[in-house]
Amino acid sequence: MAHNNRKPKMLLYTLKDFQKQFPDDATCLEWLRNYLYPDGIFCEKCEAVTKHHRVKSRPSYSCDHCGHHVHPTAGTIFHKSPTALTTWFYAIYLMAQTRCGISAKQIQRETGVTYKTAWRMFKQIRSMLSDDKSGPIGGKNSKVEMDETYCGSRTKGTRGRGTDKTPVIGMVQRKGQVRAVVAADVKADTLNGLIREHVLPKSVVFNRYVPFL
Ligand SMILES: [Zn+2]
Repeated sequence: MAHNNRKPKMLLYTLKDFQKQFPDDATCLEWLRNYLYPDGIFCEKCEAVTKHHRVKSRPSYSCDHCGHHVHPTAGTIFHKSPTALTTWFYAIYLMAQTRCGISAKQIQRETGVTYKTAWRMFKQIRSMLSDDKSGPIGGKNSKVEMDETYCGSRTKGTRGRGTDKTPVIGMVQRKGQVRAVVAADVKADTLNGLIREHVLPKSVVFNRYVPFL
């Protein structure tokens, strides 16, 4: 049998992948619904998990039995925002992809919203992505991807390893949370330490650079 030596492809979640996964607001809302209610929506009135259908005129779902409405955006950073979900998701994609920090100005440029809106989105997404209070990510058999980015001055020159820029290690749980931490260096010991600190045992960790564990 041929030795399977392929690089984990899922590390490279490109703009094309993003656009394919989130083509419109309805898809984003559906994603949010599945993320928030993986076991189905609990209807407060029926006091049970019931079938719900999408309300066409509003970003909400309605209970098939009693008609009670549920808004998946309630309590999230998208709540009551006039900005389209696709725009929000795209800004999140940009910020999660560029751990060195994308500016509010760049979000304005990329999404076409006003600077005021871009700044508000920037602040809310940043606080969401850097929520370290929720502890380590991953878990039994869940897949966590790891990679490194180098942050620092924007001067041209050497890229990647070997620069004197600060390495930032990103840890992304597939379809889940993100952790980005500044590392002293990118030696195997350091990276393994970060994994022990930020990733739950029994997770499957993919790393682009280090053959470890
Ligand atoms: Zn109901």
